[in-house]
Amino acid sequence: MSHPPVFHKVLIANRGEIALRILRACREMGVLSVAVHSTADANAMHVRLADESICIGPPAASESYLNAAAILTAATICNAEAIHPGYGFLAENADFAAMVEEHGISFIGPAPEHIRLMGDKVAAKRVCREAGIPVVPGSDGPVESEDQARAVADDIGYPVLVKATAGGGGRGMKVVNEPDEIANALSTARAEAVAAFGNGELYIEKYLARPRHIEVQILADLHGNVVHLGERDCSVQRRHQKVVEEAPSPALSPNEREEIGRVATTAVKRFGYRNAGTFEFLYEDGKFYFIEMNTRLQVEHPVTEMVCGIDLVREMLRVASGAPLGYGQKDININGHAIECRINAENPETFASSPGRVGDYHAPGGLGVRVDSALYGGYVVPPYYDSMIAKLIVHGNNRDDCRMRLVRALREYVIDGIETTIPLHQRLLESPRFIAGDYDVHWLEKFVRGEN
Ligand code: ADP
Repeated sequence: MSHPPVFHKVLIANRGEIALRILRACREMGVLSVAVHSTADANAMHVRLADESICIGPPAASESYLNAAAILTAATICNAEAIHPGYGFLAENADFAAMVEEHGISFIGPAPEHIRLMGDKVAAKRVCREAGIPVVPGSDGPVESEDQARAVADDIGYPVLVKATAGGGGRGMKVVNEPDEIANALSTARAEAVAAFGNGELYIEKYLARPRHIEVQILADLHGNVVHLGERDCSVQRRHQKVVEEAPSPALSPNEREEIGRVATTAVKRFGYRNAGTFEFLYEDGKFYFIEMNTRLQVEHPVTEMVCGIDLVREMLRVASGAPLGYGQKDININGHAIECRINAENPETFASSPGRVGDYHAPGGLGVRVDSALYGGYVVPPYYDSMIAKLIVHGNNRDDCRMRLVRALREYVIDGIETTIPLHQRLLESPRFIAGDYDVHWLEKFVRGEN
């Protein structure tokens, strides 16, 4: 069978490490890359390394990286055949994906209707439940009133979690321990959700006491071929946001791994979903509960790449261009162990953000060490965007070797001039609970407070 060659030129609608990550995949495939950037990012690494670059607006993301019209104009001017959205910004904006396709440009991701469906977390839970995936107990749909919320909470039992239907990044989420707290939680969560997503719709879930966050990476082509690439354990979190991720999960048995992969793959086939995606689950007492599906490349995708030996961005480009996967589930092998640390420009104790000029910069290296970062000596970390400045990903033959290698690599990493969370990573990787793999999504918060 002959297949159309993958794209000639791809526009990368993002910045920072992920723009660089996508650019690297393009270059290795012989695909030309176009960087877009705000005025604050004129000297950014992704702009320097791209084949072409176009300024799309002022520093505020709403006027640049979220400016769909400016990005589409840029793509049209430079004749890009496809747009990779990365993560964040417009990556899960169904209207943007539809606009891209209406302009005759390929959106490197799923179909707009799948982005829309999964972006509504209540609807996503419903279709997943119908597809036979266990979900967290909670309200069947959005909760409209305090009375309704109270009835749901009485039914499933306290504590409960109020969540935003349009949620993301842990925002618009409130734990409710007793009936008296419901009214307050609803109004704060609603206000937060309106501010963050322009949509105040809320739903309710049972708040699990000590779950792990385990997610399954899937990949699907346009011809009905679907594989899963195993799981990632992302239970080391602060404020519902991932800090350290690893693959495979130290908590799963081979049978559980196979079972959850099968469940995810079956659902993807049933939905007719295409490209890369991730099913996120909470896992407690041997049971999985679906929480959401992410319809994009994830920050933590490198740990999967390191254990599977598959370049996920390359695969996203290939399947978006119509190429078949060319391999099946039996060809996917998980080798060794990988751990990723998300390094932020923040004070490691107060987490106050610390943008500014980087002084000396030295990235670690050696066997099994990967640094995904757009930093360089003299670079000025702008204050306008997410504080994540680097991902350090390490592979080892087993979890212990991997962790030791990561500790070694963190000691080598020099980022002068700004504060970073490297000291926090060094501490947590040496903690008995992390060493034992015995942690849940609430552990890091307690560890940071000095409780364990
Ligand atoms: P977001 O889309 O904002 O990231 P998620 O639904 O993916 O929200 O949840 C993010 C994190 O919040 C989870 O990984 C977990 O740590 C915590 N969380 C979410 N739902 C629950 C729940 N029902 N019980 C306990 N923790 C939860």
